[in-house]
Formats: sequence, C-alpha cells, structure tokens
Amino acid sequence: MSQHALRGMNDIRPPDISIWHEVEKCAHEIFPRYLYQEIRTPILEDMSVFTRSIGDTTNIVEKEMYVFQDRGGKWVALRPEGTAPVVRAYIEHHGNPDEVVRYYYMGAMYRYERPQQGRFREFHQLGAEVLGISSPKLDAEVIHMVDVFFKHLGIKNAVLEINSLGCPICRPKFLRAFFDFLHKNEDKLCSDCKRRMEKNPLRALDCKNPGCDALTREGPSIHDFLCEDCEKDFDTVLETLGLLKTEYKVNPKIVRGLDYYIKTTFEFTSNALGSQNAIAGGGRYDGLVRLMGGPNVPAVGFAIGLERLVDIIKAERNLTAPVLNRKGLFFATLGEKALQKALVLAQQLRNANIPVGLDYEGKSLKSQMRKADKMGAEFVMVIGDSELEKNEAQLRNMSSSTETTISLDQILQALQSIPA
Ligand SMILES: [Zn+2]
Ligand SMILES: [Zn+2]
Repeated sequence: MSQHALRGMNDIRPPDISIWHEVEKCAHEIFPRYLYQEIRTPILEDMSVFTRSIGDTTNIVEKEMYVFQDRGGKWVALRPEGTAPVVRAYIEHHGNPDEVVRYYYMGAMYRYERPQQGRFREFHQLGAEVLGISSPKLDAEVIHMVDVFFKHLGIKNAVLEINSLGCPICRPKFLRAFFDFLHKNEDKLCSDCKRRMEKNPLRALDCKNPGCDALTREGPSIHDFLCEDCEKDFDTVLETLGLLKTEYKVNPKIVRGLDYYIKTTFEFTSNALGSQNAIAGGGRYDGLVRLMGGPNVPAVGFAIGLERLVDIIKAERNLTAPVLNRKGLFFATLGEKALQKALVLAQQLRNANIPVGLDYEGKSLKSQMRKADKMGAEFVMVIGDSELEKNEAQLRNMSSSTETTISLDQILQALQSIPA
C-alpha cells in the first residue's frame, strides 16, 4: 500500500517553498526593527497550557485540539496556536514584570478540523507578542507593523477591521444584555451557540452559521457598553492608526475565536482569493499571563496564517505557472577525467555561492543537456578531452544562447563579471 500524508497535512515543496522563504525573510527583516526577537517553543506542551488559556468552551479546546497521553501517562497537546506557549515561556524565563519582552515566532500548529478550502490540520502561523506595555498606542503600532509587513510582501488589498471587546468592568454588562438578546431569540441560533450561550455568549458573534450571523447583527453592540477607560483607549488606538496612516474599518463583530482577548481586537482580511478571508488577527490579552500563573502583566499580539498568506501572494502576483528563474551552472562532461575535473571546479563555484549541477554516471551529452534544462541552469559548460588539453571550454548562456571561451582556471571570475 502506498503512503500518503495525513488528511489536512501538506508537503510544502518547490516552487511554493521560495515564497515561504521570502515571507520568513521578510519577518526576520521587519520585526527586529520594532525590537522583536525570535522565540522557538516546543510543538508539544502540557495540555493545561491550552485549556487554561484558550478557554474550555472554545471550538479549539472542545473539538479540535490534538490531545493524547504520552508514554508516562501525562496529558499533552500539539499546540493549536502560538500565544499560550509564548506566555508559558515568558512566565518560565522572565521574572521581572517591569521588563518589556517582545517575541515573534513562526511554526506549525495543529487542529483537528474538517479539512476544507484553505483550512488544514497542520498549518503554519507567524505571530508576535509584546508583554509589559499597557498603552493603546502600542496596540496601534503592533497593527501598523502587520500592515507594513503585508505591504513589504506586495499585498495590496488587505483590509484592517478593528473592535474593542471592553474590559472586565464593562464587558459583563454587555454580556448580560447580549445573553438576554440571545435567550429571547434562542430558536434562531444554531445548536452550538445554543449550548454555549450560558457559558460563552460571545461565540455567537463569530459563528459562521448564517442564522446566527444575521441575528447577532441586530443585537446589542459592545460599543454602547464600553466604560470610559475602554472608550478612551479605543479612541487612542484609532487616533494612532490615523497618525501612522494605517486605514481601518470598525467592526463590532470582531471578537476572535479565543476567550482571553480584552479591549483591542483586530483582523486583516483579503479578497484576493475570491471571498473575504482573514489573513491575520490579534488583540490585547492583559489577563492571560496571570490566568496562566504569572504576574499581572499586560500583553498584546497577533498571528498570521501562512498557508493563506502564501496563496494570496501567489494570486496577487498571478503566479499560476512558476516563472523559470535560471541560475547556476551545469557541467556536462565526456569521460572520467573530465568528470573528475568538473567535480573539483564545482566545489570552487559552490564555495562562491553559485549552484552547480553535474552528471555522475557518464550519460550521453543529450541526456546531460536535459538534466541542465531540468535544473534551470543559466550556464552550461561541456568538458571533454580536448577542453582538458587546452584548459579552456565554451561557457554557454542558456537564456541568450551565446557562447564564450573561458579558461578552466577562470570560470569563477568569468561568472562574477557577468551582470546578474
Ligand atoms: Zn471597560
Ligand atoms: Zn451559531
């Protein structure tokens, strides 16, 4: 029986992998400008890292998390998201609550979802978290950084939607009013929302069921319940975004799928793939560090879904067929001596960062030229007995079909003198 990757899990291969590299490089370039440093946390964590943080009544914990007992009988989970592990690491390694910590991360996450367009069981996120700053100006700067990151990647149509979820003082008043509204209209809710209504009515706001969506649009809005503090902070976020020239739309339905957010929440969406898709989301989560057993430290962060981001980059660049970007050199050799010479020359060029291909099996010249083509070599050099004798050979440029005679000792210099 042939083997397949698990359902909802993908191999990331060429040519797409070059876009992944580009995205990663962009993150390493942009985020450190804002003083973020990379952190790599384990994929496997104690299950409680997620049940305590994400919330028992979220879809993630109830239905999607990969949970199992390890061989020692300990309940562990494959991380379904990146924030809780970063907070766990923060609590473990940083004792001083006055210290500001900025981390970014990227890696695989796991959720046992029904695989569908753009949703996978293994997916990749790029995210960042700032711990130790409560100013709403930071919220705006974090959002702005995401905007800069997308623009740097050439994404044109990302739309920012922003909301405030209130704080532990004002949100309960909204939740009560919202619960009463749901209770009165219970017959219009889906079974999930009905069941979660008591413990977590907010879930109905981001429920994808059309009935729940239509109903909650008519319900009470959090913005009518915000306390003075929350309203002032939200105004500051919007004002600072204006100052930084980041466009936004206020949308009271942006609640995110996680229980720990307060005040600022946001999403970036794009319609580059036909329908409106979220490509990034985040917000403020001041209570989470304490909830997970750490000090009372304010925090804000975001995560970007990389599979979708890569699809959007491809769509925006119209990359249906991979562009053949010729590079490197292929040595076609005739005879054992020529092959040995080519092996030595290849190392010199590779040390100078030039990709080199060759044939190890003494195949025909025709077969070797096919290999050069498959490699996408920009140059081909054929070496046989007469070339060895004269110590020079023809360097063929495959794009322009031109040939130049080059001394075998001067290949590197010749290649370096050709403008890229
Ligand atoms: Zn408030
Ligand atoms: Zn629902």
